[in-house]
Amino acid sequence: TIGKLTVITGPMYSGKTTELLNFAEIYEIGKKKTLIFKPAIDTRYSAEDVVTHKFHKMPARVVKDSTELFEYYNSLIEKPDAVFIDEVHFFDVELVNITKKITLDGVDVYCAGLDMSYLWEPFETTAKLMALADEIIKKKAVCEVCGEYKATLSYKLKNNGGVFDVGGKDKYIAVCKDCYESYERNA
Ligand code: ADP
Ligand code: MG
Ligand code: ZN
Repeated sequence: TIGKLTVITGPMYSGKTTELLNFAEIYEIGKKKTLIFKPAIDTRYSAEDVVTHKFHKMPARVVKDSTELFEYYNSLIEKPDAVFIDEVHFFDVELVNITKKITLDGVDVYCAGLDMSYLWEPFETTAKLMALADEIIKKKAVCEVCGEYKATLSYKLKNNGGVFDVGGKDKYIAVCKDCYESYERNA
C-alpha cells in the first residue's frame, strides 16, 4: 500500500517539531525503521539533531536540498517504514515530488514546517505538500503579545535577512492575527 503523507504546520513555537518527533517515537516503539531529515540551514540548536524548543532531540540526517535527501534515501538498501522531514519550508519545491515518490514505495512521510513567512504569505513548498497531504495538522502557539492560545503567525522583530532567515526568540515571536495587525500599524 502507498504510504500516508502527513503535514504538521503552523507558526514558530507551535510544537511542530515536538509533534514530528512524537510520531517518530511511535514508530520506534513499534520497532519500525525511521529516517529523520533536516535542512543544513537550520543549525539553531544542533548541527546533527532535530531539536525542539524544549530541547527534546533525535538524531537526523542533515541535507542541503531535496536532491541530496532523495539520493541518501535511494542509497539505502533497507527502506524505512517512515520518513520524517523537519523545516520543509526551507526546501526547494522539488521536495513535493520526492515525498510523493517516497510514499509510492509504501513509506509513510511526515513533514513539519512553517505554513507562512513573517510577511503573512504562504511558503510554496509547505503549501504544495499540504495540497497533497492525506492529513494536515495545523498547530497554534500562545500569542506573545496578548497571551491567548491563538497565534497563527510569526512576527519578525529584527527586520533583516529576508523570509529564509533562521532565528529564535531574539528574531521571531508567535502572534495572533489581531496583534500582528496592531504591530504592523505601529511599526
Ligand atoms: P516548533 O517546531 O513549532 O517551532 P517546538 O516543537 O520546537 O515548536 O517547540 C514547542 C515548545 O515551545 C512548546 O512546548 C513550549 O515549551 C515552547 N514555547 C515557547 N514559546 C511558545 C509560545 N509562544 N507558544 C507555545 N509554546 C511556546
Ligand atoms: Mg521546529
Ligand atoms: Zn494576540
